Amino acid sequence: MDTFTVEAVILRTDDFGDANRVVTLFSKEFGKLEANAYGCRRSRSPLSGALQMFNHISATLTRGTKVDIIREADIINFYDALTKDLERLAYASLLFEIVNRMTLPRQRELATFNLLANALPTLSRRNPRIAALIGSCQFMETSGVQLSFSRCVHCGKNIIGDAAISLLDGGAVCLNCRDAAQSCRPYPEGLRRTFETMLSFDWRDDTKLTFNSRQVTAAENFFLEYVQGILGNALKSVQFIRDLESLRV
Ligand SMILES: [Zn+2]
Repeated sequence: MDTFTVEAVILRTDDFGDANRVVTLFSKEFGKLEANAYGCRRSRSPLSGALQMFNHISATLTRGTKVDIIREADIINFYDALTKDLERLAYASLLFEIVNRMTLPRQRELATFNLLANALPTLSRRNPRIAALIGSCQFMETSGVQLSFSRCVHCGKNIIGDAAISLLDGGAVCLNCRDAAQSCRPYPEGLRRTFETMLSFDWRDDTKLTFNSRQVTAAENFFLEYVQGILGNALKSVQFIRDLESLRV
């Protein structure tokens, strides 16, 4: 039997049958993997507990002809706050849904694994909305369809002050190139600085999560439009976040 061990975070789970679960892992070794865990929802199963959404685990799998099977799983880290606090759950789901939707199986991407592993403690302890936006922005930088936030996509010059931005053209457009760009919209300096700060954010740095809430809202609205435009449909977690917001009003 072909057995292998991975270190992974759990991107998604889908229950099936009486006690089974399809688990989508993002592993350090192989990138995204989908595997079945039989019987894991029974309380006496040795897998119960470990195979929950957002857990950071070590798992032993066997390769099946159609689908891999999880045989053993041990928790490396788990984040209680992400399942108990609805707002944290919603924002962690947003980052994880974007990564799941934007990645293909078995494409090793260590930067993405590290990003998820680093974002989890921040999502569980600090402002989850900002943490999810930082994580999503940093992840999209590696997606191959990233936007240019700091340089004009037409002339390559660094953007200074207020400018324009075009999703169709792939990012920032300086005022000199504006007439050559398609469907431009305003790109105020404050929005650019918010993205630049988020892209250079170091997850080990415990001191700076200070963003103006108006800038965060502008960055979030812009970013979600961009991601959902690429995906071609809505993210489920965005609806979840909007539902929570409407309950709070
Ligand atoms: Zn330009």
